[in-house]
Amino acid sequence: MENFNGHLPEQVDELQKIPGVGRKSANVIASVAFNKPALAVDTHVFRVSARIGLTHHARTPLEAEKQLVRYIPESLHSIAHHWLILHGRYICKARKPECDHCGLQPYCKYYKQNKKQEAI
Ligand code: SF4
Repeated sequence: MENFNGHLPEQVDELQKIPGVGRKSANVIASVAFNKPALAVDTHVFRVSARIGLTHHARTPLEAEKQLVRYIPESLHSIAHHWLILHGRYICKARKPECDHCGLQPYCKYYKQNKKQEAI
């Protein structure tokens, strides 16, 4: 209330100054509430991006975010976040990815390195 005159800031850097708001939440707020090009990296986005090969040796969500926004067009940042989350939640699950039902097989680094060998 004091720092932002009672208004929620729209920029990710400003949002992170609010106690309890980390980078992921700031990106979600900027993207969903203010329609800014922001790509939040949660556990699903982090895992799925690494498996597919959209990120390379990212050690933290911030590293993953920086790699993703470098290659995904800005106009798609918001929706890419949702695509990756939903894909991670329903198909590319943490413990057991459902590669047999996944349309990304031909493009997926994890599939090429692991599952393809099993099928041979
Ligand atoms: S092929 Fe398998 S590992 Fe790759 S994105 Fe699909 S479910 Fe995930």
